[in-house]
Amino acid sequence: MVVKFNEYAVKKETAVDAMAGDGEYKEAYLADVVRLKMKRDQKRFWAGDNISEYILDDRMKDQLIDEATDAFELVLDRLLIDRETDPNSKGTARRLAKMYFNEIMAGRYERAPDCTAFPNDSKDRYEGMLVVRSELRSMCSHHHQPVVGVAYIGIIAAEKLIGLSKYTRIAQWCARRGTLQEELANDIAREIEKATGAKDLGVYIQATHGCCENRGIMAHSSLTQTTVLKGAFKEDMGTKKEFFDNIKMQQEFAPR
Ligand SMILES: [Zn+2]
Repeated sequence: MVVKFNEYAVKKETAVDAMAGDGEYKEAYLADVVRLKMKRDQKRFWAGDNISEYILDDRMKDQLIDEATDAFELVLDRLLIDRETDPNSKGTARRLAKMYFNEIMAGRYERAPDCTAFPNDSKDRYEGMLVVRSELRSMCSHHHQPVVGVAYIGIIAAEKLIGLSKYTRIAQWCARRGTLQEELANDIAREIEKATGAKDLGVYIQATHGCCENRGIMAHSSLTQTTVLKGAFKEDMGTKKEFFDNIKMQQEFAPR
């Protein structure tokens, strides 16, 4: 879907007029224009959703980062942190804004990784199971605390294959958002299915959560495991066992 904003850098309209869609009025923030546009389109923009079709180019992203910088300055002021004379807090608002857009939540604003698919339909096509281990960095939507872990992605190869690094690129693209681990496993499974056409697949994630380690119950050894199984991974006990045996072998090779 292509979304058009008329001269979005200067376009300003009030909430009511944005809803009416006549485009004559002016809203102070580009982020509000985009937010209202998504509402009008009934586009969900939860912390774990990708909204890249609304981010048209780098110039637009730069303006959103500028606006978020202003907002983080206000947060620091409200936290009574001196961002004028404390040298370590001076550039923090901008660092936070850039970090959210370009790093820890980049998967919301960037388009899906380009996954060229190679045909796997010859006579001697690969028919076995493929298990890829992908390291993940994510953050929980509730507390914006880090989620650190590993995803094991298994598929039975279908008619097309993608490069091995692409599995990890997809997983990281899904992870670099605000997430719930349960949703993250589903998101990765759906995107891998889209990219490979595989109907038989499994995603197993194990991760530690900053919101349990750094605050709240301060549990430093807690590990959360989630599994999504589809097709033969769900229905065929042999396939399921092979997947988990492969994960165990991977863990022996690269313990985590
Ligand atoms: Zn949390």
